[in-house]
Amino acid sequence: MKVLVINCGSSSLKYQVLDMTNEVLLAKGLVERIGMEGSVITHEKIGMDKYKLVTPMEDHKDAIAQVLMAIQDKEHGVVASMDEIGAVGHRVVHAGEKYADSVLITEEVIKALEECVELAPLHNPPNLLGIAACKELMPDTPMVGVFDTAFHQTMPAESYIYALPYEYYTKYGVRRYGFHGTSHKYVSQRAADILNVNINDLKIITCHLGNGASVSAIKGGKCIDTSMGFTPLEGLVMGTRSGDIDPAIVNFIAKKEGLSQAEMDNVMNKKSGVLGISGVSSDFRDIEAAVEDGNERADLALRVFAHKVRFYIGAYIAEMNGVDAIVFTAGVGENDASMREIICHELGNLGIKLDPVKNKVRGKETLISTDDARVKLLLIPTNEELMIARDTLNIVSKLK
Ligand code: ADP
Repeated sequence: MKVLVINCGSSSLKYQVLDMTNEVLLAKGLVERIGMEGSVITHEKIGMDKYKLVTPMEDHKDAIAQVLMAIQDKEHGVVASMDEIGAVGHRVVHAGEKYADSVLITEEVIKALEECVELAPLHNPPNLLGIAACKELMPDTPMVGVFDTAFHQTMPAESYIYALPYEYYTKYGVRRYGFHGTSHKYVSQRAADILNVNINDLKIITCHLGNGASVSAIKGGKCIDTSMGFTPLEGLVMGTRSGDIDPAIVNFIAKKEGLSQAEMDNVMNKKSGVLGISGVSSDFRDIEAAVEDGNERADLALRVFAHKVRFYIGAYIAEMNGVDAIVFTAGVGENDASMREIICHELGNLGIKLDPVKNKVRGKETLISTDDARVKLLLIPTNEELMIARDTLNIVSKLK
């Protein structure tokens, strides 16, 4: 079966077509500036050059229509007609406590996701627009929702309840949810495959270190804790997000600087993280270049980032009473050998030893621990689209 995977943002949309008989990527692309001047689709049939088409796209329906045209294009397409697409998998950020796994999208599911809009006001609305557009353009094709929060629903209450008045949880759903679940699920399953050990017998810590970053503790294939919380602001230091801070700082700074709630939100989401500390950039490549030039704040930003990752690794080893494998993934985790080195520095007593030679690798599945280390360290490029396509195939296959 061929599966179309859609990841719909407010003004952009990413897509892939995968042939799930052998899990091969056939085509991928990106639509940008939806509803703005200069809307553009960049499409790539794997093995051919990319092409760009600038064409008006007023809304998400126009954008999906362009995607469908691109994948059926005579030269750059990968299907002769839409009948060849057996299902669509949609990435959806927030499913609250409603879904602990991917589901077939029905009217009831759409309603449930609409109820979650309050929890993810920036993400769920465009995700829902993508679903509505596909429903209109492909009314007979089954669709599956794959949720960033789902994998973390196995967390026990002690991991997800905040020490706030309990009624805020019951009335407003204020609890820890966790995000990047599709990525944590994919790389933990891959780690078990690579190590050739049943995932039920493994304790894994997955470090998804990208612009947004989170760490998860996965015991027997189930997430028992993760560093992001009610929103993706909690936990690690990120590109532009603060991660954990003393909550009293929010009021203190707002008062000192005369900032509104929205402005304070903006500071913590867009102006903090390694950008805030370094004053240089949110991109680790720029920060590392600044360190080379002797910029001390850039160096401090990297050390604060690594400190927080180590902090969570330590915490999760305690929570699981040990760890068998630690996985690094996403932009920084996959590409930044020096950051992996700082994170793993002097953890020998915990059985964690990085092999500096094996570590000199980027973006490919590799074991990077020393041969004698008790804990396996792995670099595994994430593949959320493949995970979405797998879940989609699984659910749709059961329909027949
Ligand atoms: P997201 O999906 O959260 O936007 P990614 O997982 O794509 O983020 O990660 C993007 C980040 O990865 C960049 O901002 C940059 O900091 C980091 N990155 C990418 N390539 C490298 C590299 N070669 N060296 C160091 N950092 C890198």
